This record gives sequence, C-alpha cells and structure tokens, in this order.
Amino acid sequence: MVKRLAILLIGLLVINGFEIRAQEDYKELKKKYTYTIEKKHEVLDIDYDAIRFKKRPKNIILIIGDGMGTGQVFAGITVNNGLNIEQMPYVGFVKTQSADNYVTDSGAGGTALSTGVRTYNGAIGVDVNGKKLTTILEYADRNGKGTGLVSTSAITHATPASFIAHQAHRNMYEQIAGDFMNTDIDVFIGGGADFFTKRVDGRNLILELNEKGYHVGYNIDEVASKKDGKLAVLTAVGHNPGYRDRGELLSKSTAKAIEILSNNDNKGFFLMVEGSQIDWGSHQNDASYVTGEVLDLDKALAEALKFAIEDKRTLVIVTADHETGGMSVNGGNTSKGYVETGFTTGDHSAVMVPIFAFGAGAEEFIGIYDNTEVFEKMYKLFKFKQEDKD
Ligand code: MG
Ligand code: ZN
Repeated sequence: MVKRLAILLIGLLVINGFEIRAQEDYKELKKKYTYTIEKKHEVLDIDYDAIRFKKRPKNIILIIGDGMGTGQVFAGITVNNGLNIEQMPYVGFVKTQSADNYVTDSGAGGTALSTGVRTYNGAIGVDVNGKKLTTILEYADRNGKGTGLVSTSAITHATPASFIAHQAHRNMYEQIAGDFMNTDIDVFIGGGADFFTKRVDGRNLILELNEKGYHVGYNIDEVASKKDGKLAVLTAVGHNPGYRDRGELLSKSTAKAIEILSNNDNKGFFLMVEGSQIDWGSHQNDASYVTGEVLDLDKALAEALKFAIEDKRTLVIVTADHETGGMSVNGGNTSKGYVETGFTTGDHSAVMVPIFAFGAGAEEFIGIYDNTEVFEKMYKLFKFKQEDKD
C-alpha cells in the first residue's frame, strides 16, 4: 500500500515536472554568436513631425519584447540596416528590479508593467502578500475600453498572464487559463490550447468561451473574415514555434487584434503584444534566434505604427520586462546583414531596458524610471481617475 502510494506520488511528480518543463524547455545553451540575415524587411518611411497626433491617447498598444535589451535591438538594427523601432522618437530607460530580486523574472516584470506594483519573482498579478492587483487591462475594461492580448508563447505564459490573471505562481497554467473567463477581454491570440481543454478540473474553457459569445479559432488565417465581436485564437497546443516556423503569425495576429478592437464599439482599447521568444534565444545565447525574433517583432510593430498614423489617438509603446543574456554586439556589417554578438549569462540580467514611444502622449516616456512608472503613465494618459484605483 505504502509502496503503491509512493509510486503514484513519484508518477504525479514526473507528470507535473514534465508539464512545467514543457513550458520552460527553452533555456539550453547553444552558444551561436554570429548571424547573417535571412530576409530583410522594408522599414516604414514616416515623417513624424508632419503628423498631428492628439495629446492624449484613446488607444494604447503596448509591445513587449521579452528579454529585449539594447544589445538585442541593435543586433536587429545591424542585420536589417534599420528597424521600425528607430521611427519611435521618444526614448527612455526602464529599471526592472523586482521586490525580492535584483534580477527580475517575467512574472514580476510583467506584473510591474501591468499593475504598477513591484512583486516577487514568479508572481502573476498579485503583490508580495499574494493580494490580487488590478491590471491596466482590467482598468481599461472597467472604463469601457476594448482589450486584447497577443503572444508568440502560450497565452498563459508569464507575460500575457500578468495582464489578465492573478495567481501565486507563473507555473499555474490551468488556473491562469481559467482567469481568462473572468474578464470581458475582446480578443486574445496565442498558444496554449491544452490549458483550456486538457484540464485537471475537467472544465472545457473553449465551450465556456463559445457560451460567452467568442468565436474560437486555431489558426490565424482561418479567422481572416472575423472583423469584430469577440475572438480567441489558440494557435498552438503549447508554445508557438520559433520565428522560422511560424510565418507571419505575429504580424497577422497584431493586425487582426487591432482590426477587431477598432471595429468594436468601445471607448478606445488597450492591446498588449508580446514577442516572447527574444528571451528564449537570449537564454540560449543564440544570435540567430534572438535577432530573428527581434526582426519579427519589428514587423508586427509596423502594423501598430500604421494604425497609429492613421488614427492619431493611439499611443504605441515598445519596451521589455527585463534584459536576457547580458547580450552585446561585438561586431557587424550592415551591408552584409551580419552581426557578431557576445553574452555574459544564460539567464536574465539586471540592466535597464530601453522604452520607445510613438503617437498620442508619447513624449511622457522620456527619461529613466522604474517599470512601475510605465503603468502609472498609461493610467494617467487614459485619464482614469486616481480615486478609482483599487
Ligand atoms: Mg514572456
Ligand atoms: Zn527568460
């Protein structure tokens, strides 16, 4: 009896460990320090000063390059001989330290950006005492705005999770998926379908989404005709593949989310878009993985910038939750699209990350400040009342 119980227990541990690894198996060192570009993309030609943006944004598109420091951005600039990010005229630096560690993880880093509160590493939308925090996405929803999340990882992974979920630990993927049922989010696109259907509690969240009026799809091209209403696209059972194998998924998802949110009859919108795998390439010290992912994020950024130029009431922000890899650029050739990189760690680093802003209210983002300030600035720019804060 005791022996059988022990076997059962070990079995459970193995299954659990496997599930966690299934979302965390991207950290193996590759040590590939050089990269030559596979396909250059055209950068938008923007005469920024000729555009009359409104002073305050009705819409905010927050783009997070997970693990994207200045090294990662400059590797992209080098190989593509310019990036759309360079069209964003207001630039600052963000300090990323968490409440319990000088080096943050994506849970605490995402929660600081989404709620304005520093918390412990691994936390998702809760403070150091485990108390639920209200996120900018939830405040937007409460104030009649549309909301959306797009990610190249599972939609339940730490970065998108910290905008919608409230859980003690980032590994609680099924509970995080459950939290998607607790808001009125208009659109979310990312991997992680299994956390919605193959659940310990037996709930089928896809059925629940259908009952709540969502159109649920599993492929971004398959939902092309969906132009408004509520949309959930679960593009992979777990994480999406890397940039070489997922095509234009991130750009198409970003454009689709913007289209849905701008067509819905809301008082503006908040959208977070994540390039998740810049972090994974950096953990692996793989120059090609990192740089390819930065280029992919920059292509998605073009969709946001085009919308902001047209709309004039939209703010586009690009930043990171932390830097990964202690990455530097040690050499390069812009005409050959070649870069030589170096890394100081296989983990996250403590350095400041850049922040770039474009459009309505963009000038607020210059300077050096804490990641929690990003939330405060968005909250103020949206004109949400301080007395309405939880
Ligand atoms: Mg992430
Ligand atoms: Zn990481």
